[in-house]
Amino acid sequence: MRKIKAEIIKYSKMLNSRKLSALRSGNISIRYKEGFLITPSGKKYSSLKTKDIVFVSLEGKFDNKKGIPSSEWQFHQDIYKNKKEAEAIVHAHSTNATAVSTHKRGIPSFHYMVAMAGGQDIKCAKYATFGTRDLSKNILKALKGRKACLIANHGQIAFEENLPKAFELAEEVENISLQYITSLKLGKPKILSKNEMKKVLSKAKNYKKDN
Ligand SMILES: [Zn+2]
Repeated sequence: MRKIKAEIIKYSKMLNSRKLSALRSGNISIRYKEGFLITPSGKKYSSLKTKDIVFVSLEGKFDNKKGIPSSEWQFHQDIYKNKKEAEAIVHAHSTNATAVSTHKRGIPSFHYMVAMAGGQDIKCAKYATFGTRDLSKNILKALKGRKACLIANHGQIAFEENLPKAFELAEEVENISLQYITSLKLGKPKILSKNEMKKVLSKAKNYKKDN
Protein backbone atom coordinates (compact mmCIF):
# COMPACT_ATOMS: atom_id res chain seq x y z
CA MET A 1 0.00 0.00 0.00
CA ARG A 2 2.89 2.36 0.79
CA LYS A 3 4.21 1.98 -2.75
CA ILE A 4 0.84 2.91 -4.25
CA LYS A 5 0.58 5.93 -1.94
CA ALA A 6 4.08 7.02 -3.00
CA GLU A 7 3.03 6.75 -6.65
CA ILE A 8 -0.02 8.96 -5.98
CA ILE A 9 2.24 11.57 -4.34
CA LYS A 10 4.74 11.47 -7.21
CA TYR A 11 2.01 12.14 -9.78
CA SER A 12 0.25 14.73 -7.56
CA LYS A 13 3.46 16.75 -7.56
CA MET A 14 3.55 16.35 -11.34
CA LEU A 15 0.09 17.99 -11.48
CA ASN A 16 1.95 21.11 -10.35
CA SER A 17 5.23 20.68 -12.22
CA ARG A 18 3.60 19.76 -15.56
CA LYS A 19 1.15 22.64 -15.09
CA LEU A 20 -1.96 20.46 -15.08
CA SER A 21 -3.23 21.95 -11.81
CA ALA A 22 -1.89 24.68 -9.56
CA LEU A 23 -1.28 24.40 -5.79
CA ARG A 24 -3.87 21.96 -4.37
CA SER A 25 -6.54 21.86 -7.07
CA GLY A 26 -7.33 18.61 -8.86
CA ASN A 27 -7.00 15.13 -7.35
CA ILE A 28 -5.62 11.68 -8.07
CA SER A 29 -6.71 8.17 -7.03
CA ILE A 30 -5.80 4.52 -7.60
CA ARG A 31 -8.17 1.57 -7.18
CA TYR A 32 -7.14 -0.46 -4.13
CA LYS A 33 -8.82 -3.60 -2.76
CA GLU A 34 -12.55 -2.87 -2.24
CA GLY A 35 -12.13 0.85 -2.71
CA PHE A 36 -9.50 3.40 -3.70
CA LEU A 37 -6.65 5.51 -2.35
CA ILE A 38 -7.04 9.24 -2.98
CA THR A 39 -5.30 12.56 -2.34
CA PRO A 40 -6.52 14.37 0.79
CA SER A 41 -8.64 17.49 1.09
CA GLY A 42 -6.97 20.88 1.07
CA LYS A 43 -3.29 19.96 1.27
CA LYS A 44 -0.67 21.37 -1.06
CA TYR A 45 0.84 18.61 -3.19
CA SER A 46 4.35 19.81 -2.44
CA SER A 47 3.96 18.88 1.25
CA LEU A 48 2.13 15.52 0.86
CA LYS A 49 3.30 12.51 2.90
CA THR A 50 2.21 8.88 2.43
CA LYS A 51 0.17 9.05 5.66
CA ASP A 52 -1.95 11.83 4.08
CA ILE A 53 -3.32 9.58 1.31
CA VAL A 54 -6.81 8.39 2.30
CA PHE A 55 -8.55 5.06 1.69
CA VAL A 56 -12.23 5.28 0.69
CA SER A 57 -14.33 2.13 0.26
CA LEU A 58 -16.51 1.57 -2.81
CA GLU A 59 -19.46 2.25 -0.48
CA GLY A 60 -17.97 5.68 0.23
CA LYS A 61 -16.80 4.99 3.78
CA PHE A 62 -13.56 6.33 5.23
CA ASP A 63 -11.97 6.69 8.65
CA ASN A 64 -12.07 10.39 9.64
CA LYS A 65 -9.22 9.89 12.07
CA LYS A 66 -6.94 8.76 9.24
CA GLY A 67 -7.60 11.87 7.16
CA ILE A 68 -10.23 13.54 5.01
CA PRO A 69 -10.29 12.59 1.31
CA SER A 70 -10.49 15.21 -1.43
CA SER A 71 -13.88 16.92 -1.38
CA GLU A 72 -14.38 15.48 -4.89
CA TRP A 73 -14.05 11.82 -3.82
CA GLN A 74 -17.63 11.02 -4.91
CA PHE A 75 -16.96 11.03 -8.64
CA HIS A 76 -13.92 8.81 -8.08
CA GLN A 77 -16.18 6.38 -6.19
CA ASP A 78 -18.81 6.42 -8.95
CA ILE A 79 -16.27 5.91 -11.73
CA TYR A 80 -14.69 2.91 -9.94
CA LYS A 81 -18.15 1.47 -9.32
CA ASN A 82 -19.34 1.91 -12.90
CA LYS A 83 -16.16 1.47 -14.96
CA LYS A 84 -14.52 -1.86 -14.26
CA GLU A 85 -11.60 -0.95 -16.53
CA ALA A 86 -10.75 2.14 -14.44
CA GLU A 87 -7.71 1.52 -12.24
CA ALA A 88 -6.52 5.11 -11.78
CA ILE A 89 -8.11 8.55 -12.12
CA VAL A 90 -6.57 11.99 -12.69
CA HIS A 91 -8.74 15.08 -12.25
CA ALA A 92 -7.22 18.45 -13.13
CA HIS A 93 -8.19 22.09 -13.52
CA SER A 94 -5.73 22.42 -16.39
CA THR A 95 -5.93 25.84 -18.05
CA ASN A 96 -6.89 24.98 -21.62
CA ALA A 97 -9.30 22.13 -20.87
CA THR A 98 -10.95 24.39 -18.27
CA ALA A 99 -11.13 27.28 -20.74
CA VAL A 100 -13.01 25.11 -23.27
CA SER A 101 -15.24 23.75 -20.47
CA THR A 102 -16.36 27.25 -19.49
CA HIS A 103 -18.10 27.44 -22.87
CA LYS A 104 -20.00 24.29 -21.91
CA ARG A 105 -18.76 22.60 -25.05
CA GLY A 106 -16.92 19.41 -25.80
CA ILE A 107 -14.17 18.93 -28.38
CA PRO A 108 -15.22 17.60 -31.81
CA SER A 109 -13.02 15.48 -34.08
CA PHE A 110 -11.02 18.47 -35.36
CA HIS A 111 -7.91 16.29 -34.86
CA TYR A 112 -7.68 12.50 -34.91
CA MET A 113 -5.99 12.45 -31.47
CA VAL A 114 -9.44 13.18 -29.98
CA ALA A 115 -9.83 9.38 -30.32
CA MET A 116 -7.38 8.94 -27.40
CA ALA A 117 -10.32 9.66 -25.10
CA GLY A 118 -12.04 6.57 -26.53
CA GLY A 119 -14.62 7.93 -28.97
CA GLN A 120 -15.63 10.29 -31.78
CA ASP A 121 -15.34 13.37 -29.57
CA ILE A 122 -14.54 14.50 -26.04
CA LYS A 123 -17.74 15.32 -24.20
CA CYS A 124 -18.28 18.06 -21.63
CA ALA A 125 -20.15 17.01 -18.46
CA LYS A 126 -22.91 19.41 -17.38
CA TYR A 127 -22.11 21.74 -14.54
CA ALA A 128 -23.07 20.88 -10.95
CA THR A 129 -21.50 22.01 -7.66
CA PHE A 130 -18.17 20.29 -6.93
CA GLY A 131 -18.27 17.28 -4.64
CA THR A 132 -21.97 16.53 -5.28
CA ARG A 133 -23.64 13.34 -6.49
CA ASP A 134 -25.25 15.41 -9.28
CA LEU A 135 -21.82 16.24 -10.65
CA SER A 136 -20.90 12.57 -10.43
CA LYS A 137 -23.95 11.63 -12.49
CA ASN A 138 -23.15 14.25 -15.13
CA ILE A 139 -19.55 13.04 -15.37
CA LEU A 140 -20.61 9.40 -15.81
CA LYS A 141 -22.92 10.46 -18.63
CA ALA A 142 -20.09 12.31 -20.42
CA LEU A 143 -17.78 9.31 -19.89
CA LYS A 144 -20.14 6.90 -21.64
CA GLY A 145 -17.84 5.00 -24.02
CA ARG A 146 -14.99 7.34 -23.08
CA LYS A 147 -11.97 7.44 -20.76
CA ALA A 148 -11.83 11.23 -20.45
CA CYS A 149 -14.15 14.23 -20.51
CA LEU A 150 -14.30 17.93 -19.74
CA ILE A 151 -16.40 19.17 -16.81
CA ALA A 152 -18.30 22.42 -17.47
CA ASN A 153 -16.87 25.49 -15.69
CA HIS A 154 -14.50 23.23 -13.79
CA GLY A 155 -11.82 21.19 -15.62
CA GLN A 156 -11.22 17.69 -16.92
CA ILE A 157 -11.02 14.07 -15.80
CA ALA A 158 -9.22 11.02 -17.24
CA PHE A 159 -9.01 7.38 -16.18
CA GLU A 160 -6.94 4.46 -17.41
CA GLU A 161 -5.64 1.01 -16.49
CA ASN A 162 -2.80 2.55 -14.46
CA LEU A 163 -1.72 5.95 -13.15
CA PRO A 164 1.05 6.75 -15.68
CA LYS A 165 -1.45 6.18 -18.51
CA ALA A 166 -4.24 8.18 -16.81
CA PHE A 167 -1.80 11.06 -16.28
CA GLU A 168 -0.66 10.91 -19.91
CA LEU A 169 -4.28 10.96 -21.07
CA ALA A 170 -4.99 14.05 -18.92
CA GLU A 171 -1.92 15.72 -20.47
CA GLU A 172 -3.19 14.75 -23.92
CA VAL A 173 -6.64 16.25 -23.21
CA GLU A 174 -4.92 19.47 -22.11
CA ASN A 175 -2.80 19.52 -25.25
CA ILE A 176 -5.80 18.83 -27.53
CA SER A 177 -7.71 21.63 -25.75
CA LEU A 178 -4.89 24.09 -26.48
CA GLN A 179 -4.81 23.00 -30.13
CA TYR A 180 -8.59 23.35 -30.36
CA ILE A 181 -8.55 26.88 -28.90
CA THR A 182 -5.71 27.84 -31.27
CA SER A 183 -7.56 26.39 -34.24
CA LEU A 184 -10.73 28.32 -33.34
CA LYS A 185 -8.75 31.57 -33.63
CA LEU A 186 -8.56 30.96 -37.40
CA GLY A 187 -12.29 30.31 -37.65
CA LYS A 188 -14.28 27.09 -37.53
CA PRO A 189 -11.98 24.08 -38.01
CA LYS A 190 -12.83 21.32 -40.50
CA ILE A 191 -14.08 18.26 -38.66
CA LEU A 192 -13.01 14.69 -39.54
CA SER A 193 -15.87 12.47 -40.72
CA LYS A 194 -17.40 9.78 -38.51
CA ASN A 195 -16.05 7.16 -40.89
CA GLU A 196 -12.50 8.46 -40.66
CA MET A 197 -12.74 8.57 -36.87
CA LYS A 198 -13.99 4.96 -36.87
CA LYS A 199 -10.82 3.99 -38.77
CA VAL A 200 -8.67 5.88 -36.26
CA LEU A 201 -10.48 4.29 -33.31
CA SER A 202 -9.98 0.77 -34.65
CA LYS A 203 -6.30 1.51 -35.37
CA ALA A 204 -5.87 2.82 -31.82
CA LYS A 205 -7.39 -0.42 -30.46
CA ASN A 206 -5.05 -2.62 -32.49
CA TYR A 207 -2.08 -0.47 -31.55
CA LYS A 208 -2.97 -1.09 -27.91
CA LYS A 209 -3.09 -4.85 -28.53
CA ASP A 210 0.35 -4.80 -30.17
CA ASN A 211 1.84 -3.10 -27.14
ZN1 LIG B 1 -12.10 19.88 -9.35
